[in-house]
Amino acid sequence: MKLYNTLTRQTEVLELLNAPLATVYTCGPTVYDYAHVGHWFTYIRWDLLIRTLKTAGYAPKWVMNITDVGHLVSDADDGEDKLEKGAKREGKTAWEVAKFYTDDFLHDLRALNITEPNFLTKATDHIPEQIELIQKLEQKGFTYVIDDGVYYDTSKFEAYANFAKLDLDDLQAGARVAVNTQKRNPTDFALWKFSPKNNAHTRDMEWDSPWGKGFPGWHIECSAMAMKYLGETIDLHAGGIDHIPVHHTNEIAQSEAATGKRFSNYWLHSNHVTVNGEKISKSLGNGIRLADIEARGISPEAFRLHVFESHYRSQSKFSWESLEAANNRLAAYQATADWQWQANDSGTVQKHTIEAARHSILEALENDLDTPTVLAALSKLETAINGSGINTDSQVVFVDFLEWLDNALGLHLSGRPDISDEQKQLIHEREEARQHQDWALSDNLREQLKLQGITIKDQANTTVWSRV
Ligand SMILES: [Zn+2]
Repeated sequence: MKLYNTLTRQTEVLELLNAPLATVYTCGPTVYDYAHVGHWFTYIRWDLLIRTLKTAGYAPKWVMNITDVGHLVSDADDGEDKLEKGAKREGKTAWEVAKFYTDDFLHDLRALNITEPNFLTKATDHIPEQIELIQKLEQKGFTYVIDDGVYYDTSKFEAYANFAKLDLDDLQAGARVAVNTQKRNPTDFALWKFSPKNNAHTRDMEWDSPWGKGFPGWHIECSAMAMKYLGETIDLHAGGIDHIPVHHTNEIAQSEAATGKRFSNYWLHSNHVTVNGEKISKSLGNGIRLADIEARGISPEAFRLHVFESHYRSQSKFSWESLEAANNRLAAYQATADWQWQANDSGTVQKHTIEAARHSILEALENDLDTPTVLAALSKLETAINGSGINTDSQVVFVDFLEWLDNALGLHLSGRPDISDEQKQLIHEREEARQHQDWALSDNLREQLKLQGITIKDQANTTVWSRV
C-alpha cells in the first residue's frame, strides 16, 4: 500500500512498526460549534484510510481526539478559548457547550457511517497526562514561564522548521506586531496557560498544576493522548492541511523533544474544501451541516460518495449541484446492487468482470486512496451490469463483492432486500399486459409498483426492477 507522506513530500510504500497493527492518530473536532461539510470531508477521508487499512489486511488502532478545552481563537496563543467563547454566546457553561457539540458530532459521525475510532479521547479527560508531558519538557530545558503561561522554546528544537519548511527569518520579521512581547521567538507556543489573574472573568474550565491554576494549550493534548494510547512512535498521523505549519509542527516539536524519538512515521493531510467556490466561514454563512443535506432529502451515503469523487490531496468543491449529481450516481449504484436478485441465464456479466472490478478498486485504494479511480471502476461495472445483466453463475460472487465493497467504502450497497412474491407477480402480470398490448393495464401496474417504491425498466427480453 502506498501513501503520500508529508514528512518526506513523497509517495511511499507503507511500512508499519508492528504489522499487521497500524497505529493511527487523527486530529478531531473542537466542540464549540456544529461540524460542517468541510469537517466531514476530512473525517470521511480518514474513515476511508481506516477502511482501506482493514481491506488491505492490516489491523488499525485508531485514536481521534475531542478538543474540549484550550483551542484559542488565534493560533498564536492569543485571544479567547473557543469553548469559553461558545459558552458566552449561548449563555451556558463551557462544559455544557462541550457536551452538546460532542453529542451532535457523534450523532453525525454515526449517521455518516464513519468507523467508530477505537479511542475517542477528550482533552479534559487527560489533564494529568498533559501536565506530565510538560514536566518532561521542562526537565529537558525546552520550556520557559512568562506572565500568561508556560511556553515551548522552539529555538531549542533544531528541526522545528523542517516539517512545514518554515522560513523562520521571515516569521521573525513578520512578528514585530506580535501581541505577546514576552515570547522569545514568534513560533513559541503555550503548553499551559494561566487562568486570568484578575477576577473580571472566571474560567469554567481550569485545573491546578505545578505552575499555577490554568488549562493546557491546544497542541499538547494530541501529543499526550497519541503517546498514551499508541506509543511514543506511531505509524500514521492525519489531519487537515492547515495543521501543517502550526499544530502538527508543534506536535512534532514537543513529542520528539520529550522522547528523543520520531513521533509519527507517516503524515497525511486532507486538502481544503470550498463551498460554491468560497472558503467555508461563519461570516459567509456557508457552514452547511449534515442536517441541511438531509433536509433536502439527500442521504449521508450520497454525501460520502460526493467526498470520494475528489482525491483527498486535491482541493475539493462542494455545491448543491454536485451533491445532487452524486445522489443520482448513488441511485445508479443502488439499482446495480438490486441485480443481486435478478441474475439470469441470459445475463452476460460473468465472475471475471466482477473480480476485475474488485481488483481495480483495491489497487486504486492502495495507491494513496485514489477514490476518483475507485469510482471510475465501479461505474464501469455498473454500466456493464445495467447493459447486459448478471449471469446466474456470477450471483454469489456479486453478493460477496457488494459486502466487500461496503466494508471498503461504507455506501450501504449490500443487504438490499429482494422484492416480495406479490410484487414479482405484479411484474409478471405487467409483462403479459405488454405482450397483449394492453397499455392501460401495463401503466396501471407500473404505477402500483411505483407506489411500493419499485421502479421498473424494460430491457430487450426482460423487465428489471430496482428500489430507487
Ligand atoms: Zn492534533
